[in-house]
Formats: sequence, structure tokens, C-alpha cells
Amino acid sequence: MATNKNLRVCEKGHEFYKSSDCRSCPICDKENKPQSGFLSKLSSPARNALIHEGIETLQELSKYTEKEILKLHGIGPASIPLLRASLEEEGLEFKK
Ligand SMILES: [Zn+2]
Repeated sequence: MATNKNLRVCEKGHEFYKSSDCRSCPICDKENKPQSGFLSKLSSPARNALIHEGIETLQELSKYTEKEILKLHGIGPASIPLLRASLEEEGLEFKK
């Protein structure tokens, strides 16, 4: 069987096969982009506010109303459209 995939080891020691010269490690990629990737789009005060509240996933976020989220210290009105868009991407929405 012809194979053009090479075993690679990333700087963290993950072993993975890649056929291209792309050096990005799929395991690291996954660790860097958890399900809560929407948090990375927020400003750090807003992100910290959500994490402090235990909201680290969009599923968690969808259990709250916009008003409840706005009340959190660190969340500004500018964060809401961003959060709403992230929810919509997953087919979710703020609690009504
Ligand atoms: Zn890695």
C-alpha cells in the first residue's frame, strides 16, 4: 500500500500523521479550540464574567436570557450581538 503520510511529532509530543507539509497538530488544534470557542471572540472582561458564572459552552449560555447576561459584571451591550450570533451558529438562542 502506497502511503504518502508521515508520522510527525509536535512540540508537545503528540504523534499524528499528515500527508502535507502542514505542521499544525490536530490534537493541539482541538485543545486550542474547545467547544467553548465562542469565548475566544469576547473581550477578556466579558469572557471572565461568563467563566466566573460557569458559562463555558453555548449550551450553558442558552439557559440564560439576554438580560441576565447583561447584568454580569464585565459584559457590555456590545457583547450581546456577538453572543447571539455564536448561539445562532449552533442553532441555539438566548432563553426567552
Ligand atoms: Zn500537539
